[in-house]
Amino acid sequence: MCDFCSRHGRGNRWYLNPENFSEKLLEDPKRVKTLEKVAGWGIEYYIDFTSRVTDLVDWPVIGKAVKALVNRLAPNEHGGQVVSLEDALQLLSYARDFVLLPCACRKLVGHREDMVCLNFGPVKELQRRFFPEGTMEELSLEEARKVLLECDERGHFHQVLYAKVPFPICICNCDARYCTSLKQRLANGVEVAILKGHEVCAADPDICRFCSEPLCLSRCRFGALNYDPEAGRVHVDPSRCFGCGLCRSACFRGALSLVPRDEVPAAAGLW
Ligand code: SF4
Ligand code: SF4
Repeated sequence: MCDFCSRHGRGNRWYLNPENFSEKLLEDPKRVKTLEKVAGWGIEYYIDFTSRVTDLVDWPVIGKAVKALVNRLAPNEHGGQVVSLEDALQLLSYARDFVLLPCACRKLVGHREDMVCLNFGPVKELQRRFFPEGTMEELSLEEARKVLLECDERGHFHQVLYAKVPFPICICNCDARYCTSLKQRLANGVEVAILKGHEVCAADPDICRFCSEPLCLSRCRFGALNYDPEAGRVHVDPSRCFGCGLCRSACFRGALSLVPRDEVPAAAGLW
């Protein structure tokens, strides 16, 4: 169980606790301020801000201090955690007012305009207030579910974002090539930019017979799957696995599954 679940999960994962989607949480002026800041940034500001922080973190001396500061301040403010498709679908049933917005990371890194950021709750109204002319697509619950399923099929992993823990506001359908949160974590060591999910991949050694073209390897964007030549099977490195679950659908034999992170000693406690 991660720290967020201990504090806000009531025995469940924090983002699956219906209380955390409640309007009551919007009575907290600090949360409203965070939401307004995040929504009011807009893509251009986000891109500018992210580029500046990334530059600072890359500096040899000051970078260490910036990293430590972000790791200390960000966890409760605004960040995300990887979730499986199943959890992402379930959490939608607690949310309201679904809207699709363009992905800021894809625009920043790939100069693409992809409508894949699935926002909900107060975001729709905030977008209308701050960017009345901006691109936004309203969705029903069924349409929102469809977006998740399609993104999963395309190999985009799901990340739930919060605006002041424990208030979920968005599921990003991330492409690891462009995801700035992932870059902050993997390349710059800012761990809180994106927390690992609650599960890790397990490969059934009795089912996996290493394929001539193992799609599972290319599906994993976290370097958690390797070929074990001695065993002639795929090997999972649980310490690298983010628990996105994308590899599962690539294995036509059904050799891969997700198991609770806490039950795998090499991954337990690694968030
Ligand atoms: S091994 Fe599978 S579940 Fe783990 S990070 Fe890679 S694709 Fe995701
Ligand atoms: S896990 Fe599945 S897709 Fe990957 S090598 Fe084994 S059998 Fe092939």
